[in-house]
Amino acid sequence: MSEKQTLSFQAEVAQLLHLVTHSLYSNKEIFLRELISNASDACDKLRFEALNDNALYEDAPNLEVRVAFDKEARTLTITDNGIGLSQQEAIDNLGTIAKSGTREFMGKLSGDQKQDAQLIGQFGVGFYSGFIVADRITVESRRAGLKAEDGVRWTSSGAGDFEVETITRPQRGTSVTLHLREDAADYLSTWKLKSIIGKYSDHISLPILMRKEEWKEGEDNKGGEMVLTDEWETVNQASALWSRPKKDITPEQYQEFYKQISHDHEAPLAWAHNRVEGATEYVQLLYIPSHAPFDLWNREKAAGVKLYVKRVFIMDEAEALLPSYLRFVKGVIDSADLPLNVSRELLQESRDVRAIREGSTKRVLGMLEDLAKQEKDTAAAEEDKAKYGKFYAEFGAVLKEGLGEDFANRDRLAKLLRFASTTSDTATVSLEDYKARMKDGQAAIYYITADTLAAAKNSPQLEIFRKKGIEVLLMTDRVDEWALNYLQEFDGTPMQSVAKGAVDLGTLQDEAEKKAAEEAAETFKPVLEKLKEALKDKAQDVRVTTRLVDSPACLVVTDSGMSMQLARMLKQAGQ
Ligand code: ADP
Ligand code: MG
Repeated sequence: MSEKQTLSFQAEVAQLLHLVTHSLYSNKEIFLRELISNASDACDKLRFEALNDNALYEDAPNLEVRVAFDKEARTLTITDNGIGLSQQEAIDNLGTIAKSGTREFMGKLSGDQKQDAQLIGQFGVGFYSGFIVADRITVESRRAGLKAEDGVRWTSSGAGDFEVETITRPQRGTSVTLHLREDAADYLSTWKLKSIIGKYSDHISLPILMRKEEWKEGEDNKGGEMVLTDEWETVNQASALWSRPKKDITPEQYQEFYKQISHDHEAPLAWAHNRVEGATEYVQLLYIPSHAPFDLWNREKAAGVKLYVKRVFIMDEAEALLPSYLRFVKGVIDSADLPLNVSRELLQESRDVRAIREGSTKRVLGMLEDLAKQEKDTAAAEEDKAKYGKFYAEFGAVLKEGLGEDFANRDRLAKLLRFASTTSDTATVSLEDYKARMKDGQAAIYYITADTLAAAKNSPQLEIFRKKGIEVLLMTDRVDEWALNYLQEFDGTPMQSVAKGAVDLGTLQDEAEKKAAEEAAETFKPVLEKLKEALKDKAQDVRVTTRLVDSPACLVVTDSGMSMQLARMLKQAGQ
């Protein structure tokens, strides 16, 4: 390909570009974070590929990013000596969005700029964010290992298409040049760029270099100005955030790092940063987000934890590091023991990974327990008290998956659950709260499952419980039915569905009631026989019951049977 070629963006890219330039206006400066993060990713990739092929370093083993500007030309250039792009990679990676869930994501956009801007942020516009400030972007690149003549120039004004051509580029890696819009000229300033880098990219583990500025006196005392010199200086801390001691990291730095790895605009609810020593050594930096991503329910949804080995980036979305019910957790695990060439398959079998997974799971549960404790702490700030409720509204349903997935931590998980009940319309009742309110002689924790809160509350099966003032938990999450199969008891008290079998209210039922029931059963025997005969293909049994107060009849399933809710769910799923 020596001719210049004009190619069209994938439809989704064109759509996204339009959105980027129209809705990310309020937070323009993030473009620099995105481009520096790409440069850093490219260096990580080179380091990783070079593990098996040291020649890829060519004659430039020191990986770095350079940020430079030209006031006259009104350009800003971000250059890295990372892995680079081949011509085909430039076409594929800068012309399409390969990310999974792109379609789904596009479907969620509402047309409301503010809302969409948040979603776009989450999705990570990445490279295309350059078009917020630039009306033309030129990318020049050569992939590590290719010949100088196999370089590529990609250029686009961010409308419907882009151009690619072959160039000769002796140095490996990529430079992205932004031709800034008139209203973005304030980025042509060392001070401004340094402050953005300090804010967003301080923790990038590579050095970010800029030209040094020097004060130059004006002639004849006409005042002076700062001029750029040919000397370069490092403008960030250049050490991975998690490898620094805790005491040297500010909350703002932790939050900024979170935003960078999660593409989330909102600050996280909590984080934990620890160096774990012992048989398996690793650093964990784990965050609990304050809201769910748009694709939380996507089964193939990526896990949120990045794996590093001795500060070398190994992989994103390392699902072996946490159980799937904690897939909302974001962060970094940096292992001191794993081999650098570890693969996803190897991770599944590694003993060290198992230890990391157990340790990290405990750490996350610990963070959640702390948030839950804060909820009841009268001395805590309102904002802190609200955190667990906020967490639970977003992620409670996912947490319940843990009951079936993580037997070792089931008791801890059960304590973290919250439900609505006949005394609370919101999911705020813990099983401990429930137990504390149980009536004398009550032998079980009662619950009912239904599609909606209204359906649960109006169920005739609750009548007797209402009459006796017994609290019943109302479960309306799709996963409840399934999850409850794994929670037969809590702290020694059995969990009992009020829709199953003959509800035994035990000593809560007085002698007179029992006697009345027996008498009724005797009196209605002939009627029951007739009903049984009439319903013989439809119902297994017909009984006289004391559970109803106002309704004439209700349907229940046998104790061992599938509940109606589950049966309905399976039917919906076509089983
Ligand atoms: P993401 O970084 O989430 O993959 P981006 O939109 O930021 O998405 O980047 C898209 C792709 O373009 C990257 O995955 C990468 O393949 C390529 N790319 C972008 N910047 C660079 C760079 N500086 N060096 C090499 N490849 C790059
Ligand atoms: Mg990116």
